[in-house]
Amino acid sequence: MKKDNRISMEHGAGGETMTSFIKEEILPLFTKDLGEISLEYMDDSAVIDDVVFTIDSHTVKPIIFPGGDLGSLSICGTINDLLAVGAMPRAIGLALVMPEGFEFSRLKTILNSASEISKETGISIVAGDTKVVGRDDLDDPIITTAGIGRRYPSMDANLERAGGRNTRWLSDNNLNPGDKIILTGSVGDHGITILSEREGYGFGGEVSSDVSALVEVMEVALSQGGVATAKDPTRGGLANALNEFAAKSGVGIEVDECKIPIKDWVESAGEMLGIDPLTIGNEGKMVLAVHPSRAQKVLEAVKGTEDGKDAAMIGEVKEDLKGVVLRTAVGGKRILEPPVGDPVPRIC
Ligand code: MG
Repeated sequence: MKKDNRISMEHGAGGETMTSFIKEEILPLFTKDLGEISLEYMDDSAVIDDVVFTIDSHTVKPIIFPGGDLGSLSICGTINDLLAVGAMPRAIGLALVMPEGFEFSRLKTILNSASEISKETGISIVAGDTKVVGRDDLDDPIITTAGIGRRYPSMDANLERAGGRNTRWLSDNNLNPGDKIILTGSVGDHGITILSEREGYGFGGEVSSDVSALVEVMEVALSQGGVATAKDPTRGGLANALNEFAAKSGVGIEVDECKIPIKDWVESAGEMLGIDPLTIGNEGKMVLAVHPSRAQKVLEAVKGTEDGKDAAMIGEVKEDLKGVVLRTAVGGKRILEPPVGDPVPRIC
């Protein structure tokens, strides 16, 4: 923890500071080794008694933004975390904390979005809670969502072809040398959209978050087989997701910078603000590690979906490398460090 013994924004920003804070201050207090994917994995979801379980709180500011809002963000985030370990999302619980004085109309917008995602995906909200706090104690509502899921039946054939060390789940420690890294679309859209809205930069009409539930993307990927692992690159962005993969699997990852899809408006906004799009959070993307024999098939299948149409094969897992190395556009190499924290706070 920081020297002044108080929480800073970085403790919740999804980078190195948050990771060491959780490892040093939180994990030692709880049972770490319970279940097939236990707390100490710090993976997207836990697995206990064959039930996949995950929970997230959402504090995005502003709560309504181009492409989504607090409601869609919270449901999609929980669905994607279940999908990321190879689970078919089954049901969601939603807890709402609201400040006194919050407008009914904005609450309705948020809840309608949550309901729409739930209907589209067929994943029901089956439990909930509502609390109100004083207007001076909170600026905007906070939503906490928990989700449960079951292992996809297609996982048996999928992992047989992947040949990883975890033969049951898409855990972060399941990368193997030779695996190809597939990114299911452009990075940085969500973080730049939130920043643009919050600060009033007005980067133009194209600015929109990528909030989406990636059920179809994951189902088509798993049906091709060979997916060793998956992760949604939320806080800390692609840089954080790849570094987590590398550290937990004890491998290196080489990424071709030119192949990472980044939209023009994200690139120019990033340059203007001095923010690397590789370190900003996404809410509708997945990073996959896939056995080389199936990688092309998985890529084609993902590209056939609406959410995955811009997918690209961006790199490869290497045994003789440590960390994440970026092959740059000019032919050089640089180490892609995990960010200390996401440069944009309160994005999810
Ligand atoms: Mg996640």
